[in-house]
Amino acid sequence: MSARILNGNAIRDQIYGELQGELQALAAQGIRPGLAAVLVGENPASKLYVNSKTGACGKLGLASFLLTPPASIRTEELLALIAELNARDDVDGILVQMPLPPQIDTKKILDAVDPAKDVDGFHPVNVGKLVAGRPSLVACTPLGVMEILRRSDIPIAGANAVVMGRSDIVGKPMALLLLHANATVTICHSKTRDMKEISRRADIVVAAMGRAAMITEDYIRPGATVIDVGQNVVTDRAEAERIFANFPEKLASFAAKGSVLVGDVHPDVVRTAGAFTPVPGGVGPLTIAMLMSNTVAAARQRRSKGLGNKASRAVEV
Ligand code: NAP
Repeated sequence: MSARILNGNAIRDQIYGELQGELQALAAQGIRPGLAAVLVGENPASKLYVNSKTGACGKLGLASFLLTPPASIRTEELLALIAELNARDDVDGILVQMPLPPQIDTKKILDAVDPAKDVDGFHPVNVGKLVAGRPSLVACTPLGVMEILRRSDIPIAGANAVVMGRSDIVGKPMALLLLHANATVTICHSKTRDMKEISRRADIVVAAMGRAAMITEDYIRPGATVIDVGQNVVTDRAEAERIFANFPEKLASFAAKGSVLVGDVHPDVVRTAGAFTPVPGGVGPLTIAMLMSNTVAAARQRRSKGLGNKASRAVEV
């Protein structure tokens, strides 16, 4: 038996369709949501991420503003830039692309973003609201995972869910969202004993560790739903051959490019799981979709108090 593939690109397109309706309603009020992206320095991976985020804004019709201070910027200067963005009425969402250069006090920067414009959901005020189960802006990747589960009719209430990874941006908010959706949640991390045994009891496994293909079939109860957040670039031929022994098309792509993108879940898990997110094309597209959704929600909350209490993806917990 082969798992049902949970197609992140199709779910993203569905969400974009819904957002277009919301954007039209805002446009009728003279509101065009805007996202400001702060890209410090020349990190090529960061540039790529920011380009795809501003590209999504363009595709949907949101305004986007790209700020590119040099890698030598000081914390005080970056704080001044954030203060300007906080004050601008045409900016509804602010994202500061991580990682920041070593001389920058990252926590200070994240804390300086107005919580009402914190579309990454990293500000302690928004994290606290998430813990308390109150409406807030929530980190995009775990929010995207919830959209995949809900829109694929995966039962969450009462399910045993195992989250592998406890980072502030993925693992912790993921566990909280699943808990608020009435799953029984276990969080695993690098010091967890017997992770395989814990994982084998799960109805839903969310892998977010950054460990290429670590979760093999023996971690998975037959029929379980497996959500693979991991994005690891493998450049070693022997490792690629070991991981993709049963996927000749992936090896052909590796031979052509010299690298291949691998999740935290071994691709052979498709034979054991009941449902499975591929890498690429699973969780990845949802992260950007939820950033767009958060920006639209932030614009609605901040600028259109008169539009009523339309429930949004961003404020559901
Ligand atoms: P991170 O900050 O490095 O956190 C990794 C977590 O995994 C830590 O909590 C760590 O435990 C745990 N871990 C590491 N090795 C482990 C092991 N062998 N067994 C059990 N737990 C282990 O990473 P992150 O930012 O959360 O990202 C995780 C992965 O998701 C990465 O591959 C990243 O590229 C990917 N990601 C994808 C998207 C997307 O849009 N698809 C978005 C964000 C991240 P400790 O706390 O004990 O160290």
